[in-house]
Amino acid sequence: MDNNFDVIVVGSGPGGYVCAIRSAQLGLKTACVETRKTLGGTCLNIGCIPSKSLLNSSEMYHKAQKEFNNLGVETGKIKLNLSKMMSNKNKSVLTLTKGIEFLFKKNKITHLKGKGSISAKDTVTVTDNSGKKISYKTKNIVIGTGSVSTSLPGIKIDEKIVVSSTGAISFEKVPKDLIVIGGGYIGLELSSVWKRLGSNVTVIEFLDHIIPGMDKDISTEFQKILNKQGINFKLNSNVTAVSVVKNKAVVDFTNNKSAKRERIECDKVLVAVGRKANIDEDISRSGIKLDNQKKIQVNEKFETSIKNIYAIGDVINKGPMLAHKAEDEGIAVAEIIAGQAGHVNYDVIPAVIYTSPEVATVGKTEEQLQKENIKYKIGKFPFLANSRAKINSETEGFVKIIADEKTDKVLGVSMISAVAGTMIAELALAMEFGASAEDIARTCHAHPTHSEAVKEAAMAVDK
Ligand code: FAD
Repeated sequence: MDNNFDVIVVGSGPGGYVCAIRSAQLGLKTACVETRKTLGGTCLNIGCIPSKSLLNSSEMYHKAQKEFNNLGVETGKIKLNLSKMMSNKNKSVLTLTKGIEFLFKKNKITHLKGKGSISAKDTVTVTDNSGKKISYKTKNIVIGTGSVSTSLPGIKIDEKIVVSSTGAISFEKVPKDLIVIGGGYIGLELSSVWKRLGSNVTVIEFLDHIIPGMDKDISTEFQKILNKQGINFKLNSNVTAVSVVKNKAVVDFTNNKSAKRERIECDKVLVAVGRKANIDEDISRSGIKLDNQKKIQVNEKFETSIKNIYAIGDVINKGPMLAHKAEDEGIAVAEIIAGQAGHVNYDVIPAVIYTSPEVATVGKTEEQLQKENIKYKIGKFPFLANSRAKINSETEGFVKIIADEKTDKVLGVSMISAVAGTMIAELALAMEFGASAEDIARTCHAHPTHSEAVKEAAMAVDK
């Protein structure tokens, strides 16, 4: 094999594989190193894809059990076959990871199997499973090594009883009692999965609200909805210890306000307190500058402190840790290396929580605008008054559009709806084009659709 490349991408997550494909499409001789057996990174193997598969299957199970009968769809006794549900999830993962292998072949990308390390600013050394090392020369290196889950001090994840999201997408039995530490999107999505499949779920969150960083209106309403679904919350609570005794776990926590101590026994504990950039010793040694959160510092061209070494995705100090952000950065950096003007607009990155109903946001929250002293106006519309939502018995939630008080430019949108994750794309596009709330209000929306609530909320901005 010719060992000279224009670009070597380290890591094949949504940042890395998209960057490799775009680089190859732009005529650059490209290789991508991946240490995992399959391509696709966290997202395809242990993140977005398997979790969404379980969310979909568990929702079907829940609907068949609780809702079909109301619609006049009568079934026999509904029974859960968890191992089949897991096989279906694994099949989806396999099909999609194989799909990337196919795209690599189609685009003539060299797939280097093993752990990549930067041995010089123009050299990547790949160590395979047997310990054999081969070095490759390259004009440009793109680091896309992603992120790994974190834990709390003193809490050891064994992936059996005390698990990260990776363990929680592969339980062999439905845990009777599940404690979830952390009320962020990963914790709540997996809480939904296991609640629907029969677990008693308690979420313990340090703050006084769930989904930190999301619009307060949304997080309050969302918590009410999840509460109604039977998920318990212990807010303002600091987990102080998790111990495993026989096949059970004991979780100790203290209320931040009252200092009251509590202890809950359970079958499994999911630690979902966040993720950290995946920076190994090789990157640390290479002299690449990190910020104070130990993420790689990049400039507006995604270049690190070393020329011709770029970084993208979860590992960098820009934007949220989300797959579509990583993908957009992957494309941008490939275009920059090819001499084009790659760019990512960090003001318009949608975020979705794939529970039922879904939660979706884009742009600024009301709290952010208040902090920044920006004057705004708000339009809100409830799904209770949307005909399609009514027909489908999906009346929970609302759309909230925030626009600049003077210019009417849309600054942020948050919504809770059965199909919020799909609908948010319209708002992201509108914001990307600098739309005003009036632009959305005057756009004809098909009837009957959930999207009519977006138009109504936009009209409500000007009362
Ligand atoms: P990653 O996907 O983490 O990929 C990095 C890859 O680099 C890995 O395959 C790793 O093996 C490889 N690697 C690391 N070091 C080396 C090395 N030295 N040599 C070779 N290879 C290396 N995001 C969403 O947008 N939507 C969702 O619904 C969503 N759901 C999620 C659910 C869960 C349970 C989790 C854990 C995450 C979820 N995410 C979601 C987040 C999303 O998975 C990440 O933001 C995304 O995968 C980041 O992409 P990346 O390319 O930066 O890195």
